Amino acid sequence: MVNENDRIKIALERLSKNFSIEKKIYDLHLGKINKVVDKKIKVNKIIFHIPYLYDENLFVLWKCLWPDCHNCCKNQARLPLTKNDITRLTAGLGYKSKIDFIKNETKISSWNESELFGNVISTITMLSLKRKKEEKEEEDGNPIRCRFLDLNGNCDIQNFKPGVCSLYPFSSWIQVDNGLSQIHATFQFTGDCPGFYTSNSLDPIKDILEQYSHIIFDYNMEVNLTIREKYACINLVENHN
Ligand code: SF4
Ligand code: SF4
Repeated sequence: MVNENDRIKIALERLSKNFSIEKKIYDLHLGKINKVVDKKIKVNKIIFHIPYLYDENLFVLWKCLWPDCHNCCKNQARLPLTKNDITRLTAGLGYKSKIDFIKNETKISSWNESELFGNVISTITMLSLKRKKEEKEEEDGNPIRCRFLDLNGNCDIQNFKPGVCSLYPFSSWIQVDNGLSQIHATFQFTGDCPGFYTSNSLDPIKDILEQYSHIIFDYNMEVNLTIREKYACINLVENHN
C-alpha cells in the first residue's frame, strides 16, 4: 500500500512531465522545507492560511492554469455531494427521483479534514458522486479520472457539477474561535495541481482570494444545511492546538 508521501511524490513526478514545477514548490509538497509559517489572511468571512517560506521570504500562491490543465479532474479523489448538489444532479442527469439518483450514482465517502500541514480538524461522512460507473467504496480517496471529463478537457456536467469541483485546490473547515464559528481555508498539496508558485508579495493572489471567499462561504453554508438535514455527518475533533 502506497503511503501519502509516496503518493504525492508519484503525482509530482507525473505532473513534472507536462508542467514546470518550482523546486521549492516540489520540496514543500514533500515536507522538505524547514521553516513554513502559516500566514492567516481574513478576506470577507474566510480566514485563508497561506504558506510563507520564512528563510526565502516567499509566499506560496496559486492560480488556475485551466484550460491548459485539467489535472484535478484527471486525478479526482472523491466528489462529496451537498443536498443542493443532489437536487441539481438528480435533475441534470435525468433521474425522476433523488432515491434513484442516490442508488445509481452515489456511494458513501468518509475522510479527515486537516489544517495546513497539521492536525485533523474533523471527520466527515457524505454521499459522493461516483467518479466511474462501477466505483467501489474502498476506492474512496484514490485519485482517478472523473467520468465526466471529456476528451477536450471540459466537464460534461459543467452546469450542475458538484460544488466541491469549484473549490480545488482549497480545502475548508469550520472551527470555533473565541466562541464564534469561523470558516478557514487552505491549499491542499496533493501533487496534482501545477498552479502553485512562489512570490515575495501577496498582491497577485488578492483577487483570487476575494473570488474564492464567496465560493468557499456559500459551499460551507450548503454543507451545513446538508448536515442539518442529515444527508451527511461531521465529527469535530477536539483539543487540536
Ligand atoms: S485547479 Fe490546478 S489542477 Fe485543477 S485545472 Fe486548475 S491548475 Fe489544473
Ligand atoms: S464533475 Fe466535472 S469538474 Fe468535477 S471532477 Fe468531474 S469533470 Fe471535473
